[in-house]
Amino acid sequence: MSILDQTLYYFNTAADTMDLGKHIKEMMAEPYRVIQVQIPVEDDNGEINVYTGYRVQHNKGRGPMKGGLRYHPTVDAEHSASLGSLMTWKTALLDIPFGGAKGGINCDPTKMSEKEVERVTRKFISSIHENIGPYKDIPAPDVNTNGQVMAWIMDEYSKINGFSPAVVTGKPIDLHGSEGREAATGRGIVNVCETLLQDRNLDMENTKFVIQGFGNVGSHCANILHEMGAKVIAISDVSGGIHCPEGLDIPTLSAYTRFGGLLKDYDGYDFVTNEDLLLLECDILIPAALGRTIHKDNADHLRCKMVVEGANSPVTPEADEILDKRGIAVAPDILANAGGVTVSYFEWTQNIQQFKWSEEDINMRLKLRMRKACQTVGKVAKKYNVPLRTAAFIVAIGRVGKATVLSGL
Ligand code: NAD
Repeated sequence: MSILDQTLYYFNTAADTMDLGKHIKEMMAEPYRVIQVQIPVEDDNGEINVYTGYRVQHNKGRGPMKGGLRYHPTVDAEHSASLGSLMTWKTALLDIPFGGAKGGINCDPTKMSEKEVERVTRKFISSIHENIGPYKDIPAPDVNTNGQVMAWIMDEYSKINGFSPAVVTGKPIDLHGSEGREAATGRGIVNVCETLLQDRNLDMENTKFVIQGFGNVGSHCANILHEMGAKVIAISDVSGGIHCPEGLDIPTLSAYTRFGGLLKDYDGYDFVTNEDLLLLECDILIPAALGRTIHKDNADHLRCKMVVEGANSPVTPEADEILDKRGIAVAPDILANAGGVTVSYFEWTQNIQQFKWSEEDINMRLKLRMRKACQTVGKVAKKYNVPLRTAAFIVAIGRVGKATVLSGL
């Protein structure tokens, strides 16, 4: 099953339990617009490289489209369509007045100079500027793009359209970015974990977490959990993981990895491979690295009580079914990792108002939204006796469907 089929499978599972008209269902399944552009740029040696840029604008039923830009050789229209669709459901579930989009360039920035990445970025934006904008489509960072790339996008777009900080989110704080944006996805995951634990009368202090991936999402999540007194007993990066049943010293490990240290080289804890890390006994497992790491071959062997999806699409549909049968609840990506887009929405709001909110204010507003979405999903799951993922899609599809009908086909 391709990554796009996987997203469509989850969409169809929920849509089939709802009373949707055939045309509305078709409109919501298919992208609104697929943009593909050629990006010829000169490298530092004067050679011409030709890349391809994509922007798949999935749905604009509830507002301007929103979603990240990824720079990676695997970026293509299908990947972008799958992730763009997830953005539509994510923004609807969090009741953010946006639609969904995703895109990127099939380049490998790890093999490019900063100047080369800047040239590719500016060329891409000059090609698609008519289709993006504060009230059309608002990109954000994703894999291999960051605040600096967003700053170039803002500058390039503003050269053509005048000062437009709200055209892009995830900007540096010193260039109209928002407080709290960097940690927002990890913090949102913690908000979801807290709500799930409270629903089950459990507390943070007695909960053991395993986290795969110690990048932006995984490391912020681990640090906040650690501050709240939870035990993070295993973490990993691309090199492998480390494990300690009594809990890891997360602040020290964060400092170690921030300066390029690989977890496989860290002394003092037991080493564990990324495959075995997923099978450790714990209360909550948070896959926060790549897609499709929990699949039909390992789902039977997981020893957690809940999975909270930090990454996009980390659980395949086959694994989802196995986990459901085993009574392991899965908090889906469109709920669990929606903290990033939520604070992106706050950044856009601040840019439009030309006003700045404090980090405290941002974190409080994020928590309220994440909790509300989590509680709504829990209620719908109980009402229809369906897993949390299906419930989340039912809520999101219902909101997009209503907005589409109200605005007229
Ligand atoms: P990142 O690049 O900052 O970190 C990724 C982490 O995963 C790193 O620790 C890396 O070493 C590790 N990793 C890479 N390959 C691995 C492998 N084969 N096995 C195990 N670990 C591996 O990325 P991120 O921003 O933290 O994003 C992680 C996931 O969360 C992605 O799926 C992304 O799409 C999703 N996500 C991110 C955000 C956000 O705001 N950053 C928001 C929503 C969803």
